[in-house]
Amino acid sequence: MNDNALTIALSKGRIFEETLPLLAAAGIVPSENPEKSRKLIIGTNHENIRLVIMRATDVPTYVQYGAADFGIAGKDVLIEHGGDGLYQPLDLQIAKCRMTVAVRKGFDYPRASQPGSRLRIATKYPGIAAEHFAAKGVHVDIIKLYGSMELAPLVGLSDAIVDLVSTGNTLKANDLEAVEHIADISSRLVVNKAALKTKYALLDPIIQAFAGVVNKEAV
Ligand code: AMP
Repeated sequence: MNDNALTIALSKGRIFEETLPLLAAAGIVPSENPEKSRKLIIGTNHENIRLVIMRATDVPTYVQYGAADFGIAGKDVLIEHGGDGLYQPLDLQIAKCRMTVAVRKGFDYPRASQPGSRLRIATKYPGIAAEHFAAKGVHVDIIKLYGSMELAPLVGLSDAIVDLVSTGNTLKANDLEAVEHIADISSRLVVNKAALKTKYALLDPIIQAFAGVVNKEAV
């Protein structure tokens, strides 16, 4: 790996949009908009800094193995990944939402989620869901989904879902309601542990610039 170059892992959509001001504060401007380009590697105004665009769930993996030096990933994705090999110096306070349990309106969740009972849960987050219900003493059959979880309770695939809620509009539009709050979620800066040492001079000013925007000390 070139010690004078930096690779930054980002996902498209909300995280990318909300990361642009942070990059700008560090003097980094992408040369293309990934929303409009099919390119997976995007240059910047710095010859030695590039962005690699991937699915949000893959960001921790690229950073863990050092294929990217740092990246930005939601806490939801990081909890599910486990965080091995990653240094997480900063909560960027972007892409904020809540991890919740939701059910069909009218479903008697308090009764169905008594300790010792059994529930079918559809989710993209099997680890988070398993841990949450184990702590409550509720047995769960977890059905892993990749797309809109909101559909599952509507067609009888599951009793409940564990999913992210931001405005609540998706739940509302589908006659679902949030019945339990599992965790507040926001996106974090994740840095490869080895890169933090070998590329400290390149990385530290960027981390400090990001910290300045979110008005927090990087730990
Ligand atoms: P909303 O209708 O604003 O509550 O958004 C809910 C939908 O957007 C659900 O399908 C969620 O999985 C997804 N969602 C909400 N916030 C986020 C986020 N920060 N990152 C990824 N997906 C999200």
